[in-house]
Amino acid sequence: MVSSKISPFEATPIESIASTVNLCKTTFRAQTTKPLSYRLMQLRKLYWGLDDYADALVESCKQDLGKPVFESFVTEVDWCKNDIIFVTKNLEKWMKDEAAPDIAFTNSLLNPTIRKEPLGTVLVIGAYNFPVQLQLGPVIGAIAAGCTVVLKPSEVSPATAMVIKKIVEEYLDPNSFAVVNGGVTETTALLNEKWDKIFYTGSTQVGTIIAKKAAETLTPVTLELGGLNPAFITKHADPRLAARRLLWGKLLNAGQVCMSENYVMVEKEILPAFVEQLRLALKEFFPNGQKVSEDFARIVNKRHFQRIKKMLDETRGKILFGGEMDESQNFIELTVVQVEDAQDSTVVDEIFGPIMPLLVVDSIETAIRTANEVHSTPLSLYAFGTIAETNKILNEVTSGGASLNDAFYHGSIPTLAFGGVGSSGQGAYRGKASFDTFTHRRSVTTTPGWMESLISVRYPPYAGKLSQI
Ligand code: NAD
Repeated sequence: MVSSKISPFEATPIESIASTVNLCKTTFRAQTTKPLSYRLMQLRKLYWGLDDYADALVESCKQDLGKPVFESFVTEVDWCKNDIIFVTKNLEKWMKDEAAPDIAFTNSLLNPTIRKEPLGTVLVIGAYNFPVQLQLGPVIGAIAAGCTVVLKPSEVSPATAMVIKKIVEEYLDPNSFAVVNGGVTETTALLNEKWDKIFYTGSTQVGTIIAKKAAETLTPVTLELGGLNPAFITKHADPRLAARRLLWGKLLNAGQVCMSENYVMVEKEILPAFVEQLRLALKEFFPNGQKVSEDFARIVNKRHFQRIKKMLDETRGKILFGGEMDESQNFIELTVVQVEDAQDSTVVDEIFGPIMPLLVVDSIETAIRTANEVHSTPLSLYAFGTIAETNKILNEVTSGGASLNDAFYHGSIPTLAFGGVGSSGQGAYRGKASFDTFTHRRSVTTTPGWMESLISVRYPPYAGKLSQI
């Protein structure tokens, strides 16, 4: 284990960006990153970097977000290490050429094959809320695919950005992998370079800027964007189960999770029982309150603290419990708000904090209609009720992914691709999907010379040839 001392945040000099990108491009063209052995070695080195710097990363996540130690291991450091283990175990299989399926005998003579080729030199831009996972998760996929990578971590989580830079520079091949630290200026300089792919995680608003810039050079993008996720609780749901699971979905990282439920639609008959169970679960999770607990994160900075506070100041809903804030610590406690209006800002704007609006509905049909009107393409969806009810909701409301009878779970399975749909994103990653997102499936055929007579029917003049094929 190395020292967990963290350097103060330093932006990368703008003038160095072009040469960093060029070095990565030169290395890629030299074929360095393509062999399986190289990819596996870099992934293993990254694994040991994460292992050696685990304490520093836990400390930096604490500095950036007051992130509980348990969450930093489970959702950040160990998350990435487990991803690496999964990818290294499967990489050789994923890299293998695929034969074209279901083809006629004559076509099989051409040996039609799909080769898995790295896209090239790629840019990864990360968001602040999971400052390790959201930066290194896509990088793991890009290394596996054989790409060279420039990573731009979020400057909003500056301590972790510095530790990540140190890990990448100490453990990975400096000719192939680089970290550029900085904010809008540095990201804009990076976007002015030509990339083979841009992988972006962050808000839908900035995602639009990235997509427009990428479109100028027809650069492919994966966009992992904002949530606005609905949760549904029908009158037949188990209120205790729903309360515990959704509370966890709202309180992990103090609600700063793209997959957190943004608003919870509760059938009116079950509202009192659900609210009561929320109170009980909260008491059970934080017996002495959230503020003194080591297990409750803080809002990342004053700007986001003020943004969430404003949302609470402006809601027309009734605060059922919670509401305590302390700006000196960027602390906001879980605040449950009963809202009657589906246009309330806590429903239509992304909260990204520990506020849980409960929108009371008279039926599942109303809830489904409301979800489709508020934001028709959320990142995630959660539904609690009978199997028939949750299936109806799943069928009638789209989303990037969904967990029935739970929060988040679909996002934690390494063999399930994770991604949004419509305005919550495009493309997906995790496990094989991470490899695929940085891979070009190149179709290749080889026509033997001896086949010339067999295929010469294709050449003009065509007269009289239709009957021969
Ligand atoms: P953000 O969009 O503000 O920042 C993300 C990245 O974009 C940062 O690296 C930042 O430096 C860069 N950036 C910011 N403004 C820019 C500009 N004008 N030009 C170029 N680059 C710019 O997002 P955030 O506040 O860090 O993260 C929160 C958002 O991310 C939420 O909306 C959340 O839902 C979303 N998110 C999505 C996922 C997902 O997997 N779908 C995961 C985490 C977070």
